[in-house]
Amino acid sequence: MANATAYQNGEKSLFGHPRGLTYLFTTEMWERFSYYGMRAILVLYLTNYLLLEPTASNVIGYHTLKRFFESMTGPLDVQPFSSMIYGTYTAFVYLTPFFGGIIADRWIGQRYAVIIGGIIMAAGEFVLMVPQFLFLGLGLLIIGNGFFKPNISTQVGNLYQPGDSRIDRAYSIFYVGINVGAFFSPLICGSLGETVGYQWGFFAAGIGMVIGQLIYVFALRTLPPDRVARLKTHTEEKKPLTRQDWKAIFAIILLCIPVTFFWATYEQQGNTINLWAQNFTNRELIPGLIDWEIPVTWFQAFNPFMIAAFTPLIVSLWGRQSKKGTEPSTVTKMALGLFLLAISYLVMALAAHLAPQGGASWLWLALFFAFITLGELYLSPIGLALVARVAPAQILSMMMGLWFITSFTGNLLQGYIGSFFSQMDKVSFFLMCSAIGAVAGVLTWLFNFPLRPILEAKPAADAAAAAAAAAAANARGAEA
Ligand code: GLN
Repeated sequence: MANATAYQNGEKSLFGHPRGLTYLFTTEMWERFSYYGMRAILVLYLTNYLLLEPTASNVIGYHTLKRFFESMTGPLDVQPFSSMIYGTYTAFVYLTPFFGGIIADRWIGQRYAVIIGGIIMAAGEFVLMVPQFLFLGLGLLIIGNGFFKPNISTQVGNLYQPGDSRIDRAYSIFYVGINVGAFFSPLICGSLGETVGYQWGFFAAGIGMVIGQLIYVFALRTLPPDRVARLKTHTEEKKPLTRQDWKAIFAIILLCIPVTFFWATYEQQGNTINLWAQNFTNRELIPGLIDWEIPVTWFQAFNPFMIAAFTPLIVSLWGRQSKKGTEPSTVTKMALGLFLLAISYLVMALAAHLAPQGGASWLWLALFFAFITLGELYLSPIGLALVARVAPAQILSMMMGLWFITSFTGNLLQGYIGSFFSQMDKVSFFLMCSAIGAVAGVLTWLFNFPLRPILEAKPAADAAAAAAAAAAANARGAEA
């Protein structure tokens, strides 16, 4: 990549991290603003307006898709049909990154993939402003995200040399960017959508995407060269996969199994937890004193807010632990993430137990969000960093896409688990979610034994290879 030299010579740092991290942070913040802003109004748009007659029949593809879903489920009313659309959409946006990753690795590189994906996503938001084109708009978002998400994510790791211990922290910082966008978007796109008109919510989401793209293009000079290109400059050829590479691939695939169960229960937040907030929670700020009710949708902002608030604490805890040599391994952190998720659902089970008729204090939800957010911080950014550190460079973006497939399967499973909510006693429902997290946590913790040597050997091996390649290049330079 032509910019490789400019990037390497011009690397400036901010708070001890390459300046490119700030731009990737800001680009992803705007992209997630767009993604979550649109998501916040989608179900309301569908159930309150678009799927009602006479508008519904004008939507291109409406009857075909409805017939398709109904062939599996039987007749669907507006709300269940909207829920199927929402579930399918939120699942499929996480399937396409696998293919977007392959396309970037093989043909176009990560930078072009981000630009192409960003343009398609912005177009998708603007297309959604036209009611007839709902499915076209959602399709564009699914395809665009496939190009964008894995490739922006791998670029964070590419800012650092293999083996650099700052990579984990970098992903935690990047994750804050994701959540700053996720926090503000329902407030802006959601409020615009609900008060001025849904299409203006989509418009704001599209503008957010455009801002993100402009920042990205402006920042290209500070961004890392595509990893495959960097590899080629080191070794002058594309390496075949080594035994160690295959082991790393195996380790990532194995970890994807429990991580799927993490998302299947984590994603209840937008589904059954939202229903709990609406139907079983006393949302009065201070009952008897300030009877103002917290709006149901605001609970969706608790998690991104807490991500931003807790990240500095967790990162400094890991920093202190690292100095003492007691920082948990990546796999242990992920197991802890699952245990924290299990605790969060125990909190909900206790709330449901103490208020069997509903009316549980909203503080239970706040406590639930605190635990589930801590769990997320121990698992999600850590997983991104893990893939960036150990996946072979030739298939890096594809492996990042594989990581996102856990959110595809997790979201499909989430819908299935959530479908038991209304029939089941709530204590049992939450205990079931907790048990899923706990079992997956034990499984992950057991993976420590086979996986630790694989996952910890890789950076050193890579660093040594890079150092050897650099030394060889220098020697060649000296000979010339
Ligand atoms: N909230 C994070 C994001 O939007 C993680 C989502 C996921 O992988 N399911 O990137």
